[in-house]
Amino acid sequence: MKVPHIKIKPPGPKAKEIIERDQRYTAPAYGRVYPLVVKEGRGMIIEDVDGNLFLDFTAGIAVTATGHSHPKVVQAIEEQARKFLHFCGSDFYYEPMAQLAEKLSQLAPGPSAKKVFLTNSGTEAIEAALKLARYNTRRHHVIAFLGSFHGRTLGSLSLTASRSSHRAHFTPLVPDVHHVAYGYCHRCPYNLVYGSCDIECVRYLEKVLFRREVAPEEVAAIFVEPIQGEGGYVVPPPEYLGMIKDICQRHGILLVVDEVQTGFGRTGKMFACEHWGVEPDILCVAKGIASGLPLGAMIARSDISTWTPGTHGTTFGGNPVACAAALATLELIEDGLVRNAAEVGDYLKGRLGELKATYPAISDVRGLGLMIGVELVKKDGSRAPDAEFRNQVIRRAFENGLLVLGCGESTIRFCPPLIVSKDEAATAVEIFAATLEELTQ
Ligand code: PLP
Repeated sequence: MKVPHIKIKPPGPKAKEIIERDQRYTAPAYGRVYPLVVKEGRGMIIEDVDGNLFLDFTAGIAVTATGHSHPKVVQAIEEQARKFLHFCGSDFYYEPMAQLAEKLSQLAPGPSAKKVFLTNSGTEAIEAALKLARYNTRRHHVIAFLGSFHGRTLGSLSLTASRSSHRAHFTPLVPDVHHVAYGYCHRCPYNLVYGSCDIECVRYLEKVLFRREVAPEEVAAIFVEPIQGEGGYVVPPPEYLGMIKDICQRHGILLVVDEVQTGFGRTGKMFACEHWGVEPDILCVAKGIASGLPLGAMIARSDISTWTPGTHGTTFGGNPVACAAALATLELIEDGLVRNAAEVGDYLKGRLGELKATYPAISDVRGLGLMIGVELVKKDGSRAPDAEFRNQVIRRAFENGLLVLGCGESTIRFCPPLIVSKDEAATAVEIFAATLEELTQ
């Protein structure tokens, strides 16, 4: 059957019934985007409980890199599940954990030897990095960026600064976190123009922050997303990450690169920092690592991984079934999906970029690989972000059979599984354009 295929306007009757039950019993903290109730996923397709078929350009928020329920990943999960489900990798040994740690240390960018700590999620990878950075340097200040998203547990939330609502009423958070502006050229925080700005957003660290607020010898780490995800799919200028690395090296500060969203082929390279030839001191990953099973990792240079047995641990982190899923996922990603992300990503960005000429609401199309953001603005020529219109577009696209998500103030993100074909990308662009057309009438 042709996909998408909308049999009944979503949410249909079965979806409505489940949503009602869900809302009665689940925490009101969940901020559901639209009323999609998933029954099954296959590759690029999501089927809802009323039999509607959607084209998935969310990948469950940049997670299901190999598509939904890839047979090879399912097989690896089944085989491991028949052997044993759990035996606490913090306290004992098993082969899938050793194998995955070896694989990740080989894949991580840069020539230095690495040590891996496995977690259940992205936020836990960040927590581990925060603890190791303090432990190793014996310093406690850290620097993060406005617009960043590093997670929602209290340590990572202290670094997160993408929306004040994430932090409201949860303070006081971890002290001595300093936030500075990110390299968001489309809306330069210093009102400068790339080419003549001298990358003021990075220079600010040494020119201002280290002189007026915190001495660099007190800073343990700088946490940075190589491309901001939740903050709006913001790609910084090409010099950006390398300049931050230089500052870290000058002052003995650890560079922690958060590739929870950008990692594992998403941007058309295995890791986004490889676009700019930067080796992090600590690399945090999760999301795409295991095709949807809960797993994350903190990959640190061996020489800074100085913590001793018992200083950190986890009951479930590095679960053997999740490790088996990750090993199968990484094999698929290495075997063609990184290349596909680069090729189809270029095509998709090009096609979305063409829509700019027809729809003045599109102010920017940006991204690398299959991490593409389309920023929407008011049509009055003011370039003011139009969050309301963005939300309408996302909702209407869903009703038209295309699943997309928002990020930043008024951006739509396209982050499909890395298996997406050019034809599927073309279909997504057609539905997106038709949706804009309907809402622009
Ligand atoms: N870091 C980045 C860049 C993310 O995008 C996310 C989640 O969206 C996280 C960390 C937190 O990951 P998790 O939701 O698995 O805790």
